[in-house]
Amino acid sequence: MFNFSVEKQTQSSEFDNIKKWDFLVVGGGPAGLNAALYAKRKGLKVGIIVNEIGGQLNNTTWVDNYLGFNMIEGENLSHTFLDHVKQLEVPILKGVYVQNIDYLKPDFSVSVSNGKEYMTKTLLVATGGEPRKLGVSGEKEFINKGVTYCATCDAPFFKEKHVVVAGGGNSAVEGVIDLVPWASKITLVHRSQFRADKILLDKLNDIEKLDIHLETQILAVVGNERMTGIEVLDKHTNKTKLIEADGLLVEIGTVPNSGLVKDMVMTNERGEVKVDLNQMTSIPGLYAAGDITEQPFKQIIISAAEGAKAALAVNQYLNQNYKGE
Ligand SMILES: Cc1cc2nc3c(=O)[nH]c(=O)nc-3n(C[C@H](O)[C@H](O)[C@H](O)COP(=O)(O)OP(=O)(O)OC[C@H]3O[C@@H](n4cnc5c(N)ncnc54)[C@H](O)[C@@H]3O)c2cc1C
Repeated sequence: MFNFSVEKQTQSSEFDNIKKWDFLVVGGGPAGLNAALYAKRKGLKVGIIVNEIGGQLNNTTWVDNYLGFNMIEGENLSHTFLDHVKQLEVPILKGVYVQNIDYLKPDFSVSVSNGKEYMTKTLLVATGGEPRKLGVSGEKEFINKGVTYCATCDAPFFKEKHVVVAGGGNSAVEGVIDLVPWASKITLVHRSQFRADKILLDKLNDIEKLDIHLETQILAVVGNERMTGIEVLDKHTNKTKLIEADGLLVEIGTVPNSGLVKDMVMTNERGEVKVDLNQMTSIPGLYAAGDITEQPFKQIIISAAEGAKAALAVNQYLNQNYKGE
């Protein structure tokens, strides 16, 4: 069904032939790929620099909430996006890292791990993020075998199962609420007290199948082929115990990959990049889209849409506001 044959690594020399790009995109997840597609259709000289095409899609088993696909493997969705971008012949420099960005008013110089530097009039940073991990034994082993980081994405896969939710903030409480139509039992475990808003916490009162363990620290995820439970330390009694469960939803926040720009542009307390309605950061010509930004809903369709917005805004900026040559 999917044509993967169009994928071909752009040689560094193809990239080197361009003296100055109109628009360079850092990142090849949904945000970066869609931005490149929109920019190319506007006739911009656009290229993508990326470490791994697909980004977080490569760690997603099934996606069932991307419009137009009832159910598709994350990796196949990524290939589908890439096929579309490749049909427009957007040059992609992949398997490399952008290591540094210099603002040369109004242009940008981008230093890449292949030892090269590329000049561009505008730049999109779409380097995504990753879910914050608990960092306990068994967590990594049971990813997609019970352990998940996305309630919106995976709640329906826990039909009639017992799921533990780790966390005490808004996203953990929302995770519990997302699970209610599906799970047979939900246990919320948090190492300290709730940080979630009262309006959300009030909603927990009516959930009969919910158990709450505060001041309880998760020590390990256990299981065989799949996870079968978690080991916890009850800080009130200082005793460890096993909670048997089919799933563990970890909702303790995301870590944005904003290291490249966090000292250049405005970020929030979590290190997420602040952007305006056009996805522009606090530096003219420098844009951000997708999970790296402070928009709260980290989803494929939202990242892709932000990428499109950024590209359209870049085109407008180049036509109306760009002061260079
Ligand atoms: C397990 C899991 C399941 C999920 N399931 C769903 C789901 O079912 N539905 C849904 O809508 N969302 C889901 N999500 C969320 C979704 O995957 C993200 O919201 C989306 O991928 C974000 O897209 P992005 O383009 O902003 O960033 P990412 O997908 O994170 O892509 C970032 C890109 O930047 C590149 N990069 C990073 N740093 C550099 C650098 N220095 N130099 C060069 N390249 C760099 C990476 O290689 C990658 O290509 C899930 C997430 C996870 C973790």
